[in-house]
Amino acid sequence: MDLKKDASKADKLEDLALRRGFFNQASEIYGGAGGLYDYGYLGTLVKRKFENTWRKHFLSEQSMFEIETTTLMPESVFVASGHIKNFLDPTTRCKGCGTIHRADHIIEEFLHETFEGLSTEKLTEIIRKHRIKCPKCKGELEDAATVNMMFPVTIGVGEGIKTYLRPETAQGVYVNFKRSFEQLRKKLPMGLALVGKAYRNEISPRNLLIRMREFTQAELQIFFDPQHIDKHEKFHDIENYKLVLYSIADRKSNTITEISCSDAVKKLHLPQFYVYYLAKIQKFYSEVLRVPKQAFRFKELNEEERAFYNKIHWDIEIFVESAGGWKECGGLHYRTDHDLSGHQKISKQDLSVNIDGRSFIPHVLELSFGVDRNIYALLDLAYREEGDRIVLSLPEAVTPFDAALFPLVNKDNIPQKAEEVKKFLKMKDLSIFYDESGSIGKRYRRMDEIGVVNCVTVDHQSLQDNTVTVRNRDTMLQTRVKIENMFRKVEF
Ligand code: AMP
Repeated sequence: MDLKKDASKADKLEDLALRRGFFNQASEIYGGAGGLYDYGYLGTLVKRKFENTWRKHFLSEQSMFEIETTTLMPESVFVASGHIKNFLDPTTRCKGCGTIHRADHIIEEFLHETFEGLSTEKLTEIIRKHRIKCPKCKGELEDAATVNMMFPVTIGVGEGIKTYLRPETAQGVYVNFKRSFEQLRKKLPMGLALVGKAYRNEISPRNLLIRMREFTQAELQIFFDPQHIDKHEKFHDIENYKLVLYSIADRKSNTITEISCSDAVKKLHLPQFYVYYLAKIQKFYSEVLRVPKQAFRFKELNEEERAFYNKIHWDIEIFVESAGGWKECGGLHYRTDHDLSGHQKISKQDLSVNIDGRSFIPHVLELSFGVDRNIYALLDLAYREEGDRIVLSLPEAVTPFDAALFPLVNKDNIPQKAEEVKKFLKMKDLSIFYDESGSIGKRYRRMDEIGVVNCVTVDHQSLQDNTVTVRNRDTMLQTRVKIENMFRKVEF
């Protein structure tokens, strides 16, 4: 490693990502552009595994399906959704060097507090009160203003048609709601998921994969009858499960509350349907992604912070040390009928449903996750150094390979035996990284650094008794096991 020992964790993660193939700046041979990243071969494997693990966890219930929709959508979609009017970021321009900053972010950096959702007047007032200057040249800042964060694209020739790159995947689902509802036999609740790209012209992209201009979202929109919000048929499965909450009251006292799902309903007056999905999300992080308890919480947003159409909004937060602390990695949003009503009004199509003789517009519960931001958070949580050894203790669900396979030496029929073992592991549907070069110690180090949990070594004894050594990334213990008894794929 060329980096100095005391380099920041962010620099170390970036160095690892570049050296080994997790991610790098997009179009870097041309100097790249802020907020755009490509994934290398390891990053792509991790990303696909994350997406598939997400699908397995959230789409395993009945009536949950995935669709795929375009990233370019006509302007009317965003008139209906409110993005044209409201998808604005606050800015302030430096009178000296002309740099445009995100107003709330420079205040945040100056005062070490969050200032999301404040009006431009309020932001200007804070800038003036604390005499906040341009972080680049210390110049005077102009009054805060706003800019729309969407990327406009004209399609076709001549005057063309005005479209935008979608700023969230959700709208692709809403415009397909009615057709999907009919195809899926007109039943509620119905969940439609979408895993795909979203685009935002972020003023200050930063922290590598945390704030990008093109990123991937995994979102699930659950359409349901608002009269049924106070029950969920599987609630009894999770009623004693303890949620980790950072409510508006907790935020004032800077404490965390652990509360059972049934108490979240009784004492916090959250609807059962909502609480069921809080538990489902927390289980994803704690049981599947193995995020330590102290690094996960749901944060309740206050009225100023949440979008006006979100009746209930708790963010999923993970503690990301290298990005400065708690980061929003997703959210559970009760969006009411805001989106479908908006699309009904602008498209002039009837988007109501008729169930048991009652006609109504379904409400939406949105489970929203930023794939890249989650991956970065997992890399950050996993990174550790032990002397010269770098270990990426990624959860098995997202490690780039299920196992590594080493022939001890490249002679004496050992490579042939290793091929046999490889076939056996592939038959079990395990992804294998085969490495035959360098000392075994070096090979272990290379795998530790990219998070592979099990390294299997084929040696002379393997030829005698059909056993191999399996060495574990975290304990570094080596165990001798029969080839036929080797690990099965982890099930969730
Ligand atoms: P939002 O629609 O703003 O609630 O975003 C949903 C999720 O997408 C967030 O929780 C993030 O995980 C992710 N996300 C939003 N903006 C960005 C961005 N600029 N770069 C990377 N991920 C993002």
